[in-house]
Amino acid sequence: MKLLKEKAAKAMKALKALTPEDVKSLYLVILFAVIVLIAFAAIIHRLAVLCETLLIIALLLSLAGTIFIVVFYRCPHCGKHLGRSGGKYCPYCGKELNK
Ligand SMILES: [Zn+2]
Repeated sequence: MKLLKEKAAKAMKALKALTPEDVKSLYLVILFAVIVLIAFAAIIHRLAVLCETLLIIALLLSLAGTIFIVVFYRCPHCGKHLGRSGGKYCPYCGKELNK
């Protein structure tokens, strides 16, 4: 149990060290995985049980992706959430994001 906690703390630390650009790329990877899963589920829709499982995984993954971007897509300087702003500079404090 203790080991698991340490691993979780380490993972959190690594996630917090990500630049907003990294967070966005990871989010896109998650979204891509969701799309692939849904496409795959559509292709194999004859195997109803597996298809349902895949859709549930896709749903959970997109939920996880949303939580991920809400929690970690922040300005490393002022900590404000960056929302849909895609620029290189924080719209709140004006500092460069990927530093
Ligand atoms: Zn800022």
